[in-house]
Amino acid sequence: MSSSFCSPVVAGLVPYVPGEQPNIDKLVKLNTNENPYPPSPWVVSAITEAARHGLQFYPDPESSALRQAIAAHLGLAAPQVFLGNGSDEVLAHAFFAFFQHGCPLLMPDISYSFYQVYCRLYSIAVQTVALADGLRLQVADYACAPDLSVAGVVLANPNAPTGIGLPLADIEALLQMHPQRVVLVDEAYVDFGGQSAIGLIAAYPNLLVVHTLSKSRSLAGLRIGYACGQPPLIEALERVKNSFNSYPLDRLAIAGGIAAFADQAYFEQTRNAVMSSREGLALALEDLGFVVLPSQANFLFAQHPAHDAAALAADLRALGVLVRHFKLARIAQYLRISVGTPTQCDRLVQVLQALLQAGA
Ligand SMILES: *Cc1c(COP(=O)(O)O)cnc(C)c1O
Repeated sequence: MSSSFCSPVVAGLVPYVPGEQPNIDKLVKLNTNENPYPPSPWVVSAITEAARHGLQFYPDPESSALRQAIAAHLGLAAPQVFLGNGSDEVLAHAFFAFFQHGCPLLMPDISYSFYQVYCRLYSIAVQTVALADGLRLQVADYACAPDLSVAGVVLANPNAPTGIGLPLADIEALLQMHPQRVVLVDEAYVDFGGQSAIGLIAAYPNLLVVHTLSKSRSLAGLRIGYACGQPPLIEALERVKNSFNSYPLDRLAIAGGIAAFADQAYFEQTRNAVMSSREGLALALEDLGFVVLPSQANFLFAQHPAHDAAALAADLRALGVLVRHFKLARIAQYLRISVGTPTQCDRLVQVLQALLQAGA
């Protein structure tokens, strides 16, 4: 319970609970969708270099050099890119900027759980839309007239924690359904095989696409995320950011981020390795009797018809393998398993095999 020192709103907050980051040796950590590979060596050199010069000075409040690098990488102009301290911060600013209209924000019932946390924080009403059979999103379910009776739409594509991707035509249908509201597409996992909506930005003033360097660029520890959209949306995000923190990205993050986009070969190599491990792991899990949803992300969402997911997660943990389990009723029988290195995936399969045989 919050003390009498707190603003009343504090008692009503429902904070996000991240996957655990235990300090245990030799743990096979497949619970938070981090990249199993370290970042490009170019990133480490750039950060080391940046640490030698200028830490006594504030960083560039606009992170202009990184912004330019990202814009060039995506074929956009710098005024179409907004940077933040991880995409979670970018998302928070976007919710504040675009969804406080006094009517509900539409989102899938099964999605990234931080979205509901921001809605609490900013008193945004939520209307969840149930995913259809097979935990697939059906865009027709998001049609509701008149447009101004909803605050907007937010979804992850590929979705979390299902890993299922939506085709671009579906994103376009959503944008056309709600032309007066922002449709926020969180593409945290898009580099692992999804279709990006970046190419739709020129045609749709209501589209905001959010990316992170935490997953496909192996930089969860550096905290860099960004949003892309037409300049009026980006300017709105700048107003919010400059009313909150002038310097969300520090000098090391800016330097490391630029280097991450420079080393395209390393990016291709590591994401291809993750995607290839994903396919192998899916087959191995199916051999063990799991039903695995088709994933376009760096994780698998899998269910075993004969074994309780929470019990499996606990047993795996006791044997040094961490996976994620969500208590939410509709997905309580699923495990979300981040794709690791081939060695980590083999270890998981080995331990699972032993557990299933023991009749756990
Ligand atoms: C991991 C994740 C994020 C957060 O990324 P950060 O940039 O590390 O804050 C945002 N959205 C989804 C769907 C994610 O899975």
